[in-house]
Amino acid sequence: MGPAEAKLRLRTVPVSVRGASRLRSGHFWVYRSDVLSPDGIGPGELVAIADPRGKFLGTALYSSSSQIALRLFSTELIEDFAQVLRERINEAIRFREKIVKDTDAYRVVFSEADLLPGIIVDRYNDMIALQVLTQAMDAEPVRQTLVPELLSRLQPASIVERTEARVRELEQLAPREAALIFGEKSSTQFSMNGVRFHYSALAGQKTGAFLDQRENYRAAREYAHGEALDVFCYQGGFALHLAQTCSHVTAIDSSRPALEVADQNATLNVQEIEWLEGNAFDVLKDYATAGRQYDTIVLDPPAFAKSKKNLDTALRGYKELNLRALKMLRPDGILVTCSCSYHVSQADFLQMIAEAGNDARRHIRVLEVRSQAKDHPIVPAIPETSYLKAVFVHVND
Ligand code: SAH
Repeated sequence: MGPAEAKLRLRTVPVSVRGASRLRSGHFWVYRSDVLSPDGIGPGELVAIADPRGKFLGTALYSSSSQIALRLFSTELIEDFAQVLRERINEAIRFREKIVKDTDAYRVVFSEADLLPGIIVDRYNDMIALQVLTQAMDAEPVRQTLVPELLSRLQPASIVERTEARVRELEQLAPREAALIFGEKSSTQFSMNGVRFHYSALAGQKTGAFLDQRENYRAAREYAHGEALDVFCYQGGFALHLAQTCSHVTAIDSSRPALEVADQNATLNVQEIEWLEGNAFDVLKDYATAGRQYDTIVLDPPAFAKSKKNLDTALRGYKELNLRALKMLRPDGILVTCSCSYHVSQADFLQMIAEAGNDARRHIRVLEVRSQAKDHPIVPAIPETSYLKAVFVHVND
């Protein structure tokens, strides 16, 4: 079949001048307000997109409910969707083979960054966690292409599909519980930077662990010393790394299930860490009042700014935490401070740190401004792919 005939098979969706120029600048998304006439296009349909003059712009995936109405799949006309999916999965795997080191747990597919919008695949040793985020990728034929390809290339013992109720609701997808979709093994162990972790396919947050921090754990271990505090520790990602170089580690989280896994992880690594269940804001306040001091503090809170609207509130939250941490650090101390809110820019975050340092009356210097691990690649034309900030600060005196 020639391109012309294939073109006939896909319906064409015209987009506005603004939508077209966004795509031409390298972004992949077209917002609903830039779709000129979506009439008759079905949920998850593969469509051709055109500018207002009818010039072909590419092949895209349509969502009937998301504000992101179209996600570009290719600037070419796609004749065989399944074949392109397979090629892209293979390319994503090859890329990881080059850039991932010292771990058997990493992100295999990161949605747009791997030209697979709406698909997340994480590997935890011999298990795979799959997450589907859009109508188009939720279609059964996509699973039937994806799953065999992952099986043949990565040969996992099992594949679990993880779901987020809110994401599925926004995409108007039928509710779906997390479940094994291949194999029977539902838990395993993985390691990163020589530190070992338990993985349980049907529990935990995200797809299980925060793989995006892997390279930052390693960097934190290099700077860490003395008495350490890991705030928002989850299953111990930072704490377990810090414990390899620090004399004592205290780690705080509000989630008891997370701390239970954290404690099992400490046992796995033959380490002793003091786990504390509590609200980080209250605990930091109490510790500061009690005059506690540390040499190393990690702050890795959940995303405070879920949208642009609460940016100011979010920055106040970050500042309160950072101010307290900076006050509690001994001279020559290290603060590793993170934000995974896309809406808080790196510049905003550094500005907040500057203000916290000023209010704490500490002379601070930035050692490193880091981001997410390389298996969560950033595409410069798609700012939304860059969300994690991890700033390493030295506190002088
Ligand atoms: N540092 C972790 C990831 C942290 S994710 C790692 O590298 O694996 C954010 C964590 O903050 C979650 O575990 C969540 O349970 C916890 N959390 C959310 N609100 C909290 C609060 N107010 N006080 C303490 N912990 C909180």
